Amino acid sequence: MAKLIIISAPSGAGKSTLIRYLLSKNLNIRFSISATSRKPRGEEKDGVEYYFLTPDQFRSQIENDEFLEYEEVYPDRFYGTLKSEVDRIIAEGSNVIFDVDCIGGLNIKEFYGDKALSIFIMPPSIEVLRERLEKRGTDSPKVIEGRLAKAEYEMSYAPQFDVTVCNDDYERAREEILKLVTDFI
Ligand code: ADP
Ligand code: 5GP
Repeated sequence: MAKLIIISAPSGAGKSTLIRYLLSKNLNIRFSISATSRKPRGEEKDGVEYYFLTPDQFRSQIENDEFLEYEEVYPDRFYGTLKSEVDRIIAEGSNVIFDVDCIGGLNIKEFYGDKALSIFIMPPSIEVLRERLEKRGTDSPKVIEGRLAKAEYEMSYAPQFDVTVCNDDYERAREEILKLVTDFI
């Protein structure tokens, strides 16, 4: 039976890095590509990082009940998990990994119950998070301030997850998460 791995974290906590690591291991896990109405950034391609939709397309798919969960983060900026995406991966016989925000993560956990493992990635501190976001170099100072303000709020959701992994030392954190996921699957 397919298992679902939910990864949530404040932006910059290392979610993408840890997900890439898990996908590189032979665990038969596929990434659930979300839909969004934000514009592609940099080299992002439709159907790879996200399915890029217009706000109107997104709304019409909401009306057709095509989403397992979705959120309108601010007006016209939607993110959501398509039921068809999860069904496709499960039908392939693979396990699914989700990169979603905290609320989306908790909603997916509620839907799948014991078939899902919800993991919260915790940054060592807000200061370290700031340093990593600055070093990553993908966001303007203003965007970084916004992400940090949101991070404190998101960290308050950690106790509602099945497990929390602190991403302090990367090698240590990736081994911890690999063991958690391997044992669960
Ligand atoms: P997210 O997907 O959560 O926004 P990323 O995976 O992009 O975060 O990580 C943010 C930045 O921090 C990246 O530049 C990444 O290489 C770096 N990083 C991730 N984990 C660690 C760690 N344990 N120690 C130091 N840097 C890290
Ligand atoms: P970004 O715009 O940086 O790619 O993503 C912003 C946030 O949206 C991240 O916290 C990411 O985890 C979250 N996100 C991505 N896809 C989904 C989704 O399908 N559902 C929800 N609820 N959040 C998502």
